[in-house]
Amino acid sequence: MVSNLKLQLIAIDGPVAVGKSSVGRLLAKRLGFSFFDTGLMYRAFTWKVLRLGVSPEDEKELSQLANTTRFDFVPSQEGFLSVVLDGEDVSSELLCPEIEKKVSVVSKVADVRRVMVSVQRRFAQRGQVAMAGRDIGTVVLPWAELKVFLIASVKERANRRYKELMERGEKIDYNIILADLKQRDENDSHRAVSPLKPADDAIIIDTGGLSLKQVVDKIYNLSVELDS
Ligand code: C5P
Repeated sequence: MVSNLKLQLIAIDGPVAVGKSSVGRLLAKRLGFSFFDTGLMYRAFTWKVLRLGVSPEDEKELSQLANTTRFDFVPSQEGFLSVVLDGEDVSSELLCPEIEKKVSVVSKVADVRRVMVSVQRRFAQRGQVAMAGRDIGTVVLPWAELKVFLIASVKERANRRYKELMERGEKIDYNIILADLKQRDENDSHRAVSPLKPADDAIIIDTGGLSLKQVVDKIYNLSVELDS
């Protein structure tokens, strides 16, 4: 489906487990846009780092590796894009705890981010893209016509993540989830390059107490308003 909107780019940023991916996917479907979840790229790259036994702290190696990695994206079910890394579809591997632990360490490296940003900008040239991440409104697509920044308390996000994992049949201690989330918030917000923060012109949406549909409705209405 192709959208009739003049609007081309929507940036959706926010902390871990705030619902960017669920919101972005539904919103994109409703608008006839593509949805691009940039967190999957960082996760896929971290998967490669761990598989090759490279230290996530070795910036020189990481930089070299990022510059020689090929990223492709293929549409999969329900509006998701699968990440294909050097020709291999790695999407099913990306939510494991090892990656959760190391992804924000790998994401700190400036050269890694440079590679990711350039791939993400190339994807956005297709137009009619909703892109989710941490730095989309500030660094990747500062020219996006609509920027939203989703927020929710750390406890609310931990509860959501806990429920999500339980539904998938994964047994994990709530306190571990909460601690991991706090650690990732800390890493993502305080890194030197492209820290997690709203763009000056982003619209902040507190998703606390709102259903998924209510959040999607809000952004959908903003998109339509902007276009008229
Ligand atoms: O969104 P998700 O939780 O899948 O992202 C995983 C990690 O990737 C984040 O914790 C962050 O460290 C990194 N990331 C980033 N910039 C983005 C998207 C994700 O640094 N645009």
